[in-house]
Amino acid sequence: MVQKIIDIIDLQKSFKFSGNRLSILRNINLSVHTGEFLAIMGPSGSGKSTLMNIIGLMDRPSSGSYQLLGHEAGNLLEEERCQLRNQKMGFVFQSFNLLPRFSAQRNVEIPMLYGGLAPVERKRRARELLERVGLSHRLHHRPIELSGGERQRVGIARALANQPSVILADEPTGNLDQRTGREILHLFRELLEEGKTILMVTHDLDVAKWADRIVTIQDGSIVAPEESVVVIPKIESRTSQEQQRLHSL
Ligand code: ADP
Ligand code: MG
Repeated sequence: MVQKIIDIIDLQKSFKFSGNRLSILRNINLSVHTGEFLAIMGPSGSGKSTLMNIIGLMDRPSSGSYQLLGHEAGNLLEEERCQLRNQKMGFVFQSFNLLPRFSAQRNVEIPMLYGGLAPVERKRRARELLERVGLSHRLHHRPIELSGGERQRVGIARALANQPSVILADEPTGNLDQRTGREILHLFRELLEEGKTILMVTHDLDVAKWADRIVTIQDGSIVAPEESVVVIPKIESRTSQEQQRLHSL
């Protein structure tokens, strides 16, 4: 049976701002199953990143329930939240968020620092992950010496550092041109085939269509009922050129 990896029930989020309470997320109900690629789509300001921050255990809901891998997030101690975040989740950001003074390899090693791996093992694993994303020739380049697409590949290798179950990507192609963005989305599809669960936030329908399922968020609410979203076949829609690129990665 497919397991629910994320289960959100009646979640609300509000922020206190200038003495007022701003209601940002309202009545969010959302389940994500193991091995799914879900896109959360919506216009700027609709609450996508706020929701991703809660799912990534960076922030807490104001009310409602959020279960991650069977744990009720609200009941976890800060230390347990940290542990779940580091061990089970990988984060990919729109602006890559790499450390500028560090090489690609050292950037990928950073999340492993929590795991107590020997330095030599960390280096080996970072190299392996950079090879996995097609960057074996860029191990010692610093972010400024890499193209946007290469930076995002480093970002993805870093997200995979601790072999997470879930990848959370907030506008991962937002700073890339269309072609480079597509290469990143191909990589996500491959990771999906390797068993990862992927949640991706985007404001762009062409990007969202790479997921298996799309939910739309507007003014802090999911507008289409979750059940009614269309499952879009992806693999078939690749052009033969894209297929070739994919296999050469
Ligand atoms: P999106 O990612 O869909 O563009 P966000 O989740 O970043 O939207 O933001 C949704 C709304 O919540 C915005 O109007 C934003 O100004 C507001 N918001 C986000 N974080 C905070 C905060 N810490 N305090 C007050 N308002 C916030
Ligand atoms: Mg955002």
